[in-house]
Amino acid sequence: MAPLTKSILRDFLHDALPDSEMASVEKILRDDSEARMLFEEVRGEEDRGEHTIGAIWRREHLSCPTRDQLGGYLLQALDPTRFDYIEFHLKTVGCPFCQANLDDLAKKQAEAAEPIKARRKRIVNSSAGVLRTVTGPS
Ligand SMILES: [Zn+2]
Repeated sequence: MAPLTKSILRDFLHDALPDSEMASVEKILRDDSEARMLFEEVRGEEDRGEHTIGAIWRREHLSCPTRDQLGGYLLQALDPTRFDYIEFHLKTVGCPFCQANLDDLAKKQAEAAEPIKARRKRIVNSSAGVLRTVTGPS
């Protein structure tokens, strides 16, 4: 197999390699002190980053849609297959990370839409004012 890289060791750490590779990495780690040092390094990096949403995401949720895709889902701007996949991922799998991400995106989109709403309200109010002037008692 290919020489051990950090990314292979990271996958090994998270049980994300095919069984046969898990076994060979384990064997290499048993036999090779340099590989063990690299492994400790990877483990340290992972520990330090483990509280960030991004790290948890990368570590545990490789099947998660990207944030861009979640944004597209929110705007219903995805092809039906992808839309169904994300809907399944959110509603059936109930992935808490994607849900949190989606909530965050929804909030951002709502914020971005706010000035438009405020503007609309202003227009409605001023038309109401015009109507009152035209139809109101004189
Ligand atoms: Zn997810």
